[in-house]
Amino acid sequence: MKRGLVVVAHADDAEFGCAGTVALWARDGYEVTYVVCTDSSRGSEDPAITREQLIALRKEEQAEAARILGVREVLYLGHEDGAVVDDEPLRRQIVRLIRAYKPERVIAMDPTVRIVDRYVNHPDHVAVASATIAAVYPFARNRPTFPDLLAEGLEPFSVPELWLTSFGQANTWVDIGETIALKVEALRAHRSQMRDWDPEPMVRDWAKRAGAGQLIDAAESFRVIRLT
Ligand SMILES: [Zn+2]
Repeated sequence: MKRGLVVVAHADDAEFGCAGTVALWARDGYEVTYVVCTDSSRGSEDPAITREQLIALRKEEQAEAARILGVREVLYLGHEDGAVVDDEPLRRQIVRLIRAYKPERVIAMDPTVRIVDRYVNHPDHVAVASATIAAVYPFARNRPTFPDLLAEGLEPFSVPELWLTSFGQANTWVDIGETIALKVEALRAHRSQMRDWDPEPMVRDWAKRAGAGQLIDAAESFRVIRLT
């Protein structure tokens, strides 16, 4: 059961949060699937680009990043960027995928993070993270929830491990020394977002800070909750 599901709000969220770990998992034989909940259509201030052009461009960029990391598949749930909420239809979409893919590990953001120092978290990140946790526990494993999914043959499934990308409550550190270059390359694939900015110094600085307490030169940190 070497499968991982990474649920995020926007194209590029997974690359910022966990691409080094994802690349390691893929290298170790995990089938990793990305679930991007929105259409990422508000990710540009350029008046010359239409919404439709931006949606298509960001899918191309996400596909390229996924290819670099060894991610098997990218799925889109199609919610409007900036307007996604944690509601039953979103939870149902995520439960459906959990029951269909039966991942050993699900990665999400931490929905309790709204403001850290001067960082204000995007409301879509909070909503998607909250819906993902609700889908993992209790609804994917709960038989009476979503009888229509059961009727489709999607039996309840218990996700063994929930990995939250960490902002200070980490209990797991992944050494990404061998994949940090892939993380940088995957971020660069999001050209509409990076533009003239080189993400490498910031990514290396984050990785250094994340690993500092653990004597790891480059790390991604997670709060891992084992549910079985
Ligand atoms: Zn985002």
